Amino acid sequence: MLGQETQSRQHTNPLIGVEFFSQKKLDACTHCGLCLPTCPTYRELGLETDSPRGRLYLMSTAFRDVNPTPLNEDWANYIYRCLDCRACETACPSGVQFGELVEEARAIYELNTKRPTKYRFWTNLVFKGILPKRIRLNLVFELLWLYQRLGIRSLVRKTGILKLMGKMGEMESMMPEIPTPTLKFSLRRFSPAIGEARYRVGFVSGCVMNQLFTQTNLATVRVLQENGCDVLTPRKQNCCGALHVHNGVRDVALGLARQNIDAFEGEDLDAIIINSAGCGATLKEYDALMQHDTEYSGRAARFSEKMRDISEFLAEIGITPPKGEIKRTVTYDEPCHLVHGQNVHDQPHQLLQSIPGLRFIKLRESEWCCGSAGIYNITQPDMSRDILERKMKHIADTEAEIVATGNPGCILQIQLGLRERGLPMKVMHPVDLLDCAYRGVDPLE
Ligand code: SF4
Ligand code: SF4
Repeated sequence: MLGQETQSRQHTNPLIGVEFFSQKKLDACTHCGLCLPTCPTYRELGLETDSPRGRLYLMSTAFRDVNPTPLNEDWANYIYRCLDCRACETACPSGVQFGELVEEARAIYELNTKRPTKYRFWTNLVFKGILPKRIRLNLVFELLWLYQRLGIRSLVRKTGILKLMGKMGEMESMMPEIPTPTLKFSLRRFSPAIGEARYRVGFVSGCVMNQLFTQTNLATVRVLQENGCDVLTPRKQNCCGALHVHNGVRDVALGLARQNIDAFEGEDLDAIIINSAGCGATLKEYDALMQHDTEYSGRAARFSEKMRDISEFLAEIGITPPKGEIKRTVTYDEPCHLVHGQNVHDQPHQLLQSIPGLRFIKLRESEWCCGSAGIYNITQPDMSRDILERKMKHIADTEAEIVATGNPGCILQIQLGLRERGLPMKVMHPVDLLDCAYRGVDPLE
């Protein structure tokens, strides 16, 4: 049994030098199997090894003290085929924190395995060379903007060369219109409340959010101002490290976490707001990520305590009712890292239902993953496509004009699904809709 196998282990496996693997959290699994029907990969493949319970068993055998199984490619395939969607956490009656466990397992794997050169090149470039470096990230998106604006994109697409470019081609096909790079500068360091200031909040502008969804960031700040918040967007903040944590690149994630804590600390904030669900889940878990950092663990706990998703914060303070009507039909897809990772389910619905004139249509299986899962749609394209297929069928069935969802990866994935199927729907962040209602603007015009 899994529990018996792991009871005696004290994080001393000489093979892997485990310092941070959460043994007690692994032992909480009673093997009841209640999580299995909620797991997208288990539903697709029907294999125990591709289920939460099977993956917990694989982690257990790999990290036990005596005769650990090797961390080989087969083992990694099962662990990395997990979407880290955390639906199993919601289903689990024993409180197994699967997300934390699978992320730690991946970190241990990365520390103890020499990946192929090509893999190392790409992961080093993206996770170490671009995402944590603001100037380089800006440059990459400026070049991509030029690529789109100068018409090179349509030429490249016509040649069919993208199909030969593997993962690069996949990434290109998902890329939406990139906003004018200078738009980012409209996001001020300090944006005062409209009327009396009731709260002073920090705003996490994010890395990809700031580049691809600048308008949503600006809308978030406007909505906060409208609701009596002074909004502070510190310049020294950086990427939150969510993609790093999900993919086992923990050393970089720790550095980014320290930088973000430094950037927001000492600003006397009532809350720190984020509009990206995947980033929010990681930021709320900085305390767990930094538990072994003697200098930062207490500071990380205070930081995480203040983190709120925008919908969660607005529900908490009670929003100023918008006056503008939006006479449109909308459905809502729940980002996994909001509903399962942060247990935020009712608040985005409340926020949408506060908009006068909006007709809400329930989405079947709204809490199931769309297959985006960070960079999963690039690393596991086939599984991602299968999962997206089911999601798109449910979305099409709603016949809504707008699909609302609160995470950049989900927005991109659903946009791709709509584009490929020729469905005339628009994907928007719920806060964009609320902003339109405050400004009396029709989101589809
Ligand atoms: S996180 Fe999602 S994909 Fe991974 S085991 Fe749990 S339910 Fe399955
Ligand atoms: S529901 Fe929880 S306790 Fe039951 S098998 Fe899944 S992870 Fe283990």
